[in-house]
Amino acid sequence: MADYQIETKCVQGGYTPGNGEPRQIPIIQSTTFKYATSEEMGKLFDLEASGYFYSRLQNPTCDHVAAKIAEMEGGSAGMLTSSGQAANFFAIFNIASCGDHIVSSTSIYGGTFNLISVTLAKMGIETTFVDPDCTDEELEAAFRPNTKLVFGETIANPALTVLDIERFAKAAHAHGVPLVIDNTFATPVNCRPIEWGADIVTHSTTKYMDGHGACVGGAIVDSGKFDWMAHADKFPGLTTPDESYHGITYAEKFGIGGAFITKCTAQLMRDFGCTQSPQSAFILNLGLESLHVRMPRHCENGQAVAEFLQSHPKVAYVNYCGLPGDKYHALAEKYLPNGSCGVVSFGVKGGRAAAETFMKHLKLAAIETHVADARTCCLNPATSTHRQMTDEQLIAAGVPAELIRMSCGLENKEDLIADIAQALDAI
Ligand SMILES: *Cc1c(COP(=O)(O)O)cnc(C)c1O
Repeated sequence: MADYQIETKCVQGGYTPGNGEPRQIPIIQSTTFKYATSEEMGKLFDLEASGYFYSRLQNPTCDHVAAKIAEMEGGSAGMLTSSGQAANFFAIFNIASCGDHIVSSTSIYGGTFNLISVTLAKMGIETTFVDPDCTDEELEAAFRPNTKLVFGETIANPALTVLDIERFAKAAHAHGVPLVIDNTFATPVNCRPIEWGADIVTHSTTKYMDGHGACVGGAIVDSGKFDWMAHADKFPGLTTPDESYHGITYAEKFGIGGAFITKCTAQLMRDFGCTQSPQSAFILNLGLESLHVRMPRHCENGQAVAEFLQSHPKVAYVNYCGLPGDKYHALAEKYLPNGSCGVVSFGVKGGRAAAETFMKHLKLAAIETHVADARTCCLNPATSTHRQMTDEQLIAAGVPAELIRMSCGLENKEDLIADIAQALDAI
């Protein structure tokens, strides 16, 4: 599949049936797998042979779908997780552990910010947050001798900042550590971070990849390019024997392309069990088969809505990197030449009350704590996810009271604009 374009990988990646086998990826709805001898099963447990024995660790349906996502991202190996949160947790915890330090962009998903700043801190992993638009000197100053990775999002949810992936990758590599990129909003259809130097890519497949608001899920892809052995002292988990797996050294036994995902499966999936069900993986795959057809429409609708909002007298500002005047337009031209995503954020004049009136009058766009599916939805953080904050606190958090995040779906763009226009008229 490596030689094919992204569209072909979306449709046919990850699974090539043999004669008489199902054309669609089969749902292997089985917790366990049968063996004739204990010796054969023992080889699997010792990672001497590859195969299935228990679906908490690996399941054929999930593996086909993970292989497709890995091909789409141009990586060497991939795995599915139960959610995007699990994907980011695993990706970080597979590299860093108690006593280590990481560098993260400030402009990331709220759930990931919580994971990093609260839960990972409790586990002994410290973080220095840097503004995605920081200077090279500020980025450099964030590194410590015990820094183990750098983390950021291609297009941040909800801030819609665009990360200079190449610049962050160069800084990470200069310090001998990998760059982990959450590519949820862009999807590999619009940006493949590995091509710009990212080493590990994560996804909340709950968003565009599924695309229909049907299944919560996550994925991790290894580029297969980061040489753990070249920085062996920094990554003992990958470069020294794992006593919980008969003294296997992952980077030696599975090489540069296999070590990361094998360790992540053998240790973290074994011990934490954040698996995706084969049913969910099957549904995710149906979404992937049309991702390359859906993303351009999401972007077309996002662009049309952003342009309409920008020209409207009741709108104070619009954030969308597809707008020529946007702060991130130049970075978007480099990293997202075919479009970014369908999520637009904007502020209505008149603050919290105006935002509330606007949203109440929308007919097509439902109010949801969700983004990136076929149906247009919107959210006013000040009256929902961030409602405990004062207006001053909201400004400090980058979500002023009047801010509305609108995720443009796959409907007709004239219908969406007409709906937004009548709701703005109600203010
Ligand atoms: C939604 C989201 C997550 C978390 O994913 P879940 O599937 O909800 O656990 C992580 N990163 C980004 C960018 C997201 O949008």
